[in-house]
Amino acid sequence: MAWDNGGDTAGSASNDGGRAGGAASGRAGRPRRGQPVFTKNVAPGIHRLEHAFVNLYLVEDGDALTLVDTGLPTTWPLLLRALAVLERHPADITAIALTHAHFDHLGFARRAQSELGVPVWAHAKEEYIAEHPYRYAHENNRFLYPILHPGSIPILGRMAVAGALNVEGITGLRTWEPGATADVPGRPRVVFTPGHTFGHCALHFPDRDTLISGDALVTLDPYTGVTGPQIVSGAATADSVEALMTLDALAATDASVVLPGHGEPWRGGIEAAVDHARDMGPS
Ligand SMILES: [Zn+2]
Ligand SMILES: [Zn+2]
Repeated sequence: MAWDNGGDTAGSASNDGGRAGGAASGRAGRPRRGQPVFTKNVAPGIHRLEHAFVNLYLVEDGDALTLVDTGLPTTWPLLLRALAVLERHPADITAIALTHAHFDHLGFARRAQSELGVPVWAHAKEEYIAEHPYRYAHENNRFLYPILHPGSIPILGRMAVAGALNVEGITGLRTWEPGATADVPGRPRVVFTPGHTFGHCALHFPDRDTLISGDALVTLDPYTGVTGPQIVSGAATADSVEALMTLDALAATDASVVLPGHGEPWRGGIEAAVDHARDMGPS
């Protein structure tokens, strides 16, 4: 397990387009076989845990933490290790915020709900998927992608090993409104970004010049293995046309740092990321 404690990242967050370009080309962002990587301060007070090609984030706000997304079921013990690295305790997490409720973002939510006893926030349109993690709208046949895009096979295989096929649903979501400031540590603004799912929301932290984009914009598509800013392929996206239109809402944040649900952080600004995603188009 790699624990990258390079905490100086935050200091160079706003003017690091060159490195971001490296990530886009796959040089810095090349999949690393999905082993866990924990990186402190990928943005000010925001820490990133990557496991099996899925990202989750811990957002600090004084003594409290918000957990953004809950990875896969076997990510749970890695979260506990990450907290130990931060010299924090599970009880410091006082809220869970879901960008959306796909199985790879809902992974250990049920366990966290019962063991931490904290509210799980998402858009109301995610309630159905949260209860039924494998019943979600998507445009294309998921089973064709490994044939058409062999680069996805190690990624999807690693996700399966990490429990992607065994995610339990949850009930009792607390729901937030588009445009609202979420009542969770870090107080992000909820950016409604439907398309990937019908209730997808990105989280904008204006005071940190950072956007957690979830799967509205990723820098690695697990279903094709392609890196660089893009929407997720139709294997897992409900409506690619809407997903491309919703990029406008991401661009409007003007955030310098973009932290996606899959792939490396993007430090070249949301506008450049959105331009790249539009050029890539649907897949
Ligand atoms: Zn998703
Ligand atoms: Zn995802």
